[in-house]
Amino acid sequence: MAIEKTLVLLKPCTLQRALVGEIVNVFERKGLKICGMKMMMLTDELLSEHYAHLSEKPFFQRVKDAMMTAPVIAMCLEGVDAIAAVRALAGPTNGRNAAPGTIRGSYCMSFQENIVHASDSPETAEVELNRFFRPEEIIEWKQTTFDWLYANDEF
Ligand code: ADP
Repeated sequence: MAIEKTLVLLKPCTLQRALVGEIVNVFERKGLKICGMKMMMLTDELLSEHYAHLSEKPFFQRVKDAMMTAPVIAMCLEGVDAIAAVRALAGPTNGRNAAPGTIRGSYCMSFQENIVHASDSPETAEVELNRFFRPEEIIEWKQTTFDWLYANDEF
């Protein structure tokens, strides 16, 4: 168990569907702490890096194009085992297969237009946070609810 930071992107579909407040609320209610948050327009260059693992897929360019149709909101979320917890909360990639109660299971019907991106490992989280945030945009702060979120042997 460790306190981790992870990157979440609220995708253009989330902004188009006016779900930003609702999805941020899901993360807040879960107990994740927001350490960074900003709205950005992404570029093909940045997305080619971010989605490099998909570069051989036939839908690579289409996925990148979809991510440039409107702004995204990048978030740095912190919590104990936050990387796995946020992935579990997001659910599997295809919204149609995602369990009800997960973000993708509750809010989307698509493989591509699936509401959020979330880092999938500690290594990826570090690289992705550096990709989307400058160091000074990630704020270390003490949230007063911490002692009510965790037992003292959980971090
Ligand atoms: P995840 O976002 O769940 O980590 P991937 O890293 O495999 O999934 O893919 C990145 C994004 O590319 C997905 O969130 C989704 O928007 C899109 N994508 C992946 N696979 C497909 C697919 N088979 N069809 C359409 N879009 C896809």
